[in-house]
This record gives sequence, structure tokens and C-alpha cells, in this order.
Amino acid sequence: MPARVLNGNRIRDQILLEVEDAVKGLAAQGIRPGLAAVRVGDDPASEIYVRNKIKACEKVGIHSEHITPPASSTTEELLTLIDELNRRDEIDGILVQLPLPKHVDSARVLLAVSPRKDVDGFHPFNVGALVTKRPAPAPCTPAGLIQILKRSEILIAGKHAVVVGRSDIVGKPAAFLLLHENATVTICHSRTEDLPAVAREADILVAALGRPAFVTRDFIKPGATVLDVGINRLTDAEQVETICAGLPKKLEGFRKRGSVLVGDVNPKDVIETAGAYTPVPGGVGPLTIAMLMVNTLNAARQHRAS
Ligand code: NDP
Repeated sequence: MPARVLNGNRIRDQILLEVEDAVKGLAAQGIRPGLAAVRVGDDPASEIYVRNKIKACEKVGIHSEHITPPASSTTEELLTLIDELNRRDEIDGILVQLPLPKHVDSARVLLAVSPRKDVDGFHPFNVGALVTKRPAPAPCTPAGLIQILKRSEILIAGKHAVVVGRSDIVGKPAAFLLLHENATVTICHSRTEDLPAVAREADILVAALGRPAFVTRDFIKPGATVLDVGINRLTDAEQVETICAGLPKKLEGFRKRGSVLVGDVNPKDVIETAGAYTPVPGGVGPLTIAMLMVNTLNAARQHRAS
């Protein structure tokens, strides 16, 4: 039986509708949640990401401001900007789009965002809250993984979850969120011995390594749920032919556009081996922005609603 597709677009739409309703509820109390997105310089990928976040705000009725300091901005100038945003009552969330220009001290800038307004959940204060299971904004992509599992009625408690990747943004928070849902969690990384064997233990396998189609059928226990966080744009025809062999839609997309998106999981192997999986695109990715909206709504509720 082919694996069940976990449709991230559908789950995102559900969540955005819920946020929209809640935003209307807050409007009755005279409150409109507000998000400030800071994008320094003109990195084209960052521009697309921020544009999509602003679009989502418009869809759900969250006030948004797109602030675009020049690439030449100094760390001090950005700290001043963040300080101003921290002080503004109508701004509930501050998002600093990464990467920042090389000359900027990113860690200092991120640390300057008030933990109350840290809707990305990256501030060490909120990381501490996550680890100790206190209410706080969780990083958006890992929070999205939990939503996919819960809303697809995939049991987490008691299951063995293996997270491949230990970044602060995805792997580690994903592991803690799964742990808080009572999964038994293993975290893997580039030094893990016999990674396929460890991954094959997983009932729930999270792939967040940033290596196109690295996770093949050898890593997947038959029937497991596979959540593919990876987003890799391939432009090399030979690599595309190898990874996407037998997937006519992907190959056709590549012929039309000259590039194709694949995750960290082999797209054909996962269909043939897993019980359920998130496709790329249209799986985990759409949840990231939805959870940013949730975090902004919650920040407004917590600090402004009576
Ligand atoms: P990082 O590069 O920060 O971390 C990658 C992790 O994978 C590291 O912990 C690294 O181990 C581990 N790793 C790398 N190679 C191997 C290997 N061969 N075997 C085992 N482990 C390995 O990446 P991110 O966590 O930021 O992102 C991961 C992926 O998720 C990327 O494809 C990224 O584009 C995507 N992403 C998608 C998002 C979405 O919205 N869907 C949001 C954020 C990221 P070590 O620590 O030992 O170096």
C-alpha cells in the first residue's frame, strides 16, 4: 500500500482559519496583533520568505510592518531598531530574518529581541522555557511538526521518535517538543554511528539535515511516519535524474523550470516504505508560517488581552 501523504497545505489552511477567527475575537476587545519583520539588505531568498510572512498576516488580519534597513547597517543601528520595536505596544512579535549581513553580530541582535516578542522562539529565555516545559513561543518549524502529527491523528506518546539533525532552530527543539508529547526520543547528527540502523528504529522519523534525499529506504522502518524538514533546490540534471527517477511530475517540473525542490528524504523510497510522510514541497514548509501566526496571536493574547 502506498504511504499516506500528510498534506501540510491543508493543515496550514486549517490553522490560519483558526487564527483568523481568534484575531476577530481580539478585535472585539480593541486589540489587533502586530508583527514587525526586519529584513536587512536585499537577499532575494529572504525577501520571498518575508513577503510570504507578510501575506499570511494580511490573510489572518494581523497588522504587519516590513522594515528593511540597508545591508550596510551596523550592529549598533540594528540594536537601536530592535529596542524601538521592543518598546512599541502595538507590536507583539519581532522577527529578524536570517541570515544577517556578515559584519553584523547576529547573536547580539537576536538576543536584543524581548523574549515576550520573540515569536521565532530563538531567545535563550524561551529555549529554557521550552526545555523546562513552560509556556513560551516554540520555534515555528518544530511546532509545525507536532501539529502535523496531532492533526493527522498519529500517535506520539510511547512511540520512538528519531530526529536526524541537532540544530538550535529545528533538530533540538523538535526533539524537546516530541519528548513533551511523551515520545521516546533519539537525536542523531553527523557523528552518529550507523545512522541508518538508528533511524530504522523510529516510529516517527524527522529528517532535518540539509542533505538532499540523504534518507533512503535503508533508514526507514516499514510503516513509519516520516517528516521531511529539508528544503533543497536541485539544479544539476544528473542529480535530479538520479533522485527523482520514476517520479514523472518532479522530472517534468525540472524540465520546465530548470530546478526542482527535494527534501532530505529520498522522495521515491519514502512513498514505497513509509506508512505516512510529508512531501516536499507541501509538507512541513507551509506549517512554519502558520505557526508564526499562532505565536504572534498568542503573544498579543498574553500581553494585551484581559
Ligand atoms: P543545519 O545545517 O543547521 O543542521 C543540520 C544538522 O544535520 C546538524 O546537526 C548536522 O550534524 C546534521 N547532519 C548534517 N549532515 C549529516 C549527516 N550526513 N548525517 C547525520 N547528520 C547530519 O540545518 P537546519 O537544522 O537549519 O536545517 C535542516 C534542513 O531543514 C535544511 O534542509 C533546511 O533548509 C531545512 N529547513 C526547513 C524549514 C522549513 O520551514 N521547512 C525551516 C528551517 C530549515 P552536526 O551537528 O554534527 O553538524
